[in-house]
Amino acid sequence: MSRIAYVNGQYELMGAASVHIEDRGYQFADGVYEVCEIRGAKIVDFTKHMTRLQRSLRELRIAMPMALASLKIVVQEVVRRNRVRNGIVYLQVSRGVSRRDHAFPTHPVSPSVVVTARSINPQKGSDTAARGIKVITQPENRWPRVDIKSVSLLPNVLAKQAAKEQGAGEAWFVDRDGFVTEGSSTNAWIVTSDNRVITRSAETGILAGITRAVLIDVLAAMQLKLEERPFTPAEAAQAKEAFVTASSQIVMPVIAIDDKLIGDGKPGVMAKRLREEFHRFAEFV
Ligand code: PMP
Repeated sequence: MSRIAYVNGQYELMGAASVHIEDRGYQFADGVYEVCEIRGAKIVDFTKHMTRLQRSLRELRIAMPMALASLKIVVQEVVRRNRVRNGIVYLQVSRGVSRRDHAFPTHPVSPSVVVTARSINPQKGSDTAARGIKVITQPENRWPRVDIKSVSLLPNVLAKQAAKEQGAGEAWFVDRDGFVTEGSSTNAWIVTSDNRVITRSAETGILAGITRAVLIDVLAAMQLKLEERPFTPAEAAQAKEAFVTASSQIVMPVIAIDDKLIGDGKPGVMAKRLREEFHRFAEFV
């Protein structure tokens, strides 16, 4: 089936859809994005994703391209037209098209909006989760504003490629103080021997993941202990369990860090349970 994209007001065949070559998203990575999970043809945690999108836009002084209610209709329509039951929807908003010049356009420009969706076989994720993934570490080399979900992802791209070339599923960035910040496209977590769940505070060094936020609710409901603090790769290697979270992966067990096995080198019990419980706490629209 041909895929359909929404591009600046039109639903178009993906192969024919295009944006202007002077789009600032293309030339300066001057834009932001969101990825939502689609499950049973419903969008997961849409409200939280839109709140974060609006925050990212505000931080970059890009206008919201349309009313939230309209954006919701567009996103749902792209999911529907692509007949996605399980998969992801991608939404990108850039500052718009203008003659190339670093500073913001001085004349009013409309933000560019692109929405795409694709199916992902849920069995694939389950199979990966049953095996767990390895992670490698990489020096943190991103700008300090990683709280903004910008499309400027070159360090993340290079880190993920390094992981792939080393047979790992994710790369964890390690800051100058020796602490893990987050993965190239995920938040990072460990579980201590006494079942405390540790993840870095969203105040510095990470994107405030939506999956992370919902998982914190899951932990509270299950009366599990959460500690929001940084941890080192050495602590992770000694941990009982580790896992990563992202909308496209939910809770993904981590079984090794830089080839050092975590726990018994198999997906942990806690990660498995959290993965199973997650959607009971998520919003579906
Ligand atoms: N950190 C980074 C750098 C990411 O790219 C992502 C995925 N968008 C996440 C964390 C996880 O965020 P979320 O749970 O909102 O998908």
